[in-house]
Amino acid sequence: MPEELFDDDAAFPRLGDELIAALDACGRRRHVAVGEILFRAGEPANEFFIVLSGRVAIVNGFGTPGEETIGIHSEQRFAGELGLITGQPAYNTAVVRAAGELIVLSHAELVEVIRDNQQLGDVLLGAFMARRTLLIGLGAGVRLIGSHLSPDSRRLREFLTRSRIPHRFLDLETDALADELLRGLSIAPRDTPILIAGDVVLRSPTTAQAAAALNLKSASAAEEACDTIIVGAGPAGLGAAVYAASEGLTTVLVDSIALGGQASTSSRIENYLGFPAGISGSELAERATMQAARFGVRIVAPQSVEALSQEDGYHVVALEGGQRLRARTVVLATGASYRRLDVPRLAEFEGAGVYYAATPVEAQMCGGRRVAVVGGGNSAGQAAVFLAKHASHVDLLIRRDDLVATMSRYLVDQVDAIPSIELHPHTQIRELHGNGDLEAVTVEQTREKTTSRHDTGAVFVFIGADPCTGWLAGVLAIDDDGFILTGQDLSVTHLDPAGDGRERPPFLLETSVPGVFAVGDVRSGSIKRVASSVGEGATAVRLIHQYLALLTGAAS
Ligand SMILES: Cc1cc2nc3c(=O)[nH]c(=O)nc-3n(C[C@H](O)[C@H](O)[C@H](O)COP(=O)(O)OP(=O)(O)OC[C@H]3O[C@@H](n4cnc5c(N)ncnc54)[C@H](O)[C@@H]3O)c2cc1C
Repeated sequence: MPEELFDDDAAFPRLGDELIAALDACGRRRHVAVGEILFRAGEPANEFFIVLSGRVAIVNGFGTPGEETIGIHSEQRFAGELGLITGQPAYNTAVVRAAGELIVLSHAELVEVIRDNQQLGDVLLGAFMARRTLLIGLGAGVRLIGSHLSPDSRRLREFLTRSRIPHRFLDLETDALADELLRGLSIAPRDTPILIAGDVVLRSPTTAQAAAALNLKSASAAEEACDTIIVGAGPAGLGAAVYAASEGLTTVLVDSIALGGQASTSSRIENYLGFPAGISGSELAERATMQAARFGVRIVAPQSVEALSQEDGYHVVALEGGQRLRARTVVLATGASYRRLDVPRLAEFEGAGVYYAATPVEAQMCGGRRVAVVGGGNSAGQAAVFLAKHASHVDLLIRRDDLVATMSRYLVDQVDAIPSIELHPHTQIRELHGNGDLEAVTVEQTREKTTSRHDTGAVFVFIGADPCTGWLAGVLAIDDDGFILTGQDLSVTHLDPAGDGRERPPFLLETSVPGVFAVGDVRSGSIKRVASSVGEGATAVRLIHQYLALLTGAAS
């Protein structure tokens, strides 16, 4: 048996005597025997274990055909990862391989010690986040079995990826282990996709069922009215939530898919302040989610908001399934969703060759083939640069002459410097070809008015986005493209709650409904960047305080 399988100091630090003593003072000592199971995959991660002596193995797929020991903890190291803080279940099983002594802390004791001991908090939280990244890279944790051609498999993969749940997708079309696992479970291929989390096996679950099984959905949002409800947990919503909760406002954050928004579909954000080497969108989202949870934000996801109304002086937000939440203010941060190509047979190939994100998940599907990226903006540039590492050739198709007017200079330089990226100006896709999977595209060279057919393993589409405001029709003022109007762009005034019929102009990010703010990409005229979205989220909180002060003044 290997002595140690972990050699990454950030993810697997050895705690010194001083930190061990601090943990010893909060927890209990326990002797453990060989074979004892400390926690099981799929079960709530309720306890935190520090190894004083002995060996603890972390096993993926424990007791299944694909069982694999992914690491062994020895003296002064600790078992557990991010789920200990977020309340998610364990994704692997911890088994004692050599008898010894452990320190055990309950979840509540762990949270308390992280809060009170800054040095320990930094070491443990840093390690938990690094471990989550490693588990995602290893594909250790939940297993999803299905066909990459099935829309349900694609839906669940997107959900798992955006939620940063460590998982492995076993493709029925190509992976022999998928077949073996299905036979072991006596499940027919037609009953896939199957989600396996420890002992829990879900057949073709809805996203909500998957979230419930993974403990991702908060039980229910509080019945009593809160200070603010934030709809949408992209950078803008997360920014608003962190600032609101850190400034003492009771805050509920709702998202229909997962925390992170569009940013979590970006493989590398290089222009966000403070990350000189760039950061993946999903990692940025995970860090923000931890921060929000630490400040006590109540997170409700995945759960769609379907309506907004006003009742008895409160804003009422109706969730899918009928639950209604009340708040004194609302922040709309629902962002935008990608535009689709206007070509025949598109739906047939979406997820089977046509993609709207370029993360390691989609890159894996390219399998080293030639791919096309459509679009001339920064998202397209990032995707092309990222995909050049995974594909044999990247065709970048744009409608204009060049990238100068639409892409940041640093990205244009990167695109120019990579020989396997080929720019095709004045080019648009007209047809998609294939049988199940995408095999080729017909493109039109629009200036010459000629068409040609090219073999292509995948098409990545980055041609802009439309605001997610369909559910707000008739409720507040929007511009001609559906983006929410705020502040000076509005032609309304609001009644001052102090009475006497006095009126006031809307606050900077306030919508046509008093006390409802709009931030980020969904707002008319916004900059459409991660940093500006976070900034607007923070600014909205300042304005919420001003609005609440008006209400309080009126009531006193
Ligand atoms: C591939 C890609 C790469 C990018 N790279 C960069 C970059 O490098 N640098 C940069 O600055 N910007 C980048 N951007 C742009 C940046 O991601 C966006 O500007 C930013 O995410 C906008 O944040 P937001 O919070 O306003 O909206 P979004 O990120 O769109 O988040 C909105 C959230 O609202 C949720 N939602 C929508 N409707 C509802 C509803 N009815 N109920 C509940 N929830 C709802 C959605 O699920 C989503 O999570 C990139 C975008 C993409 C797509």
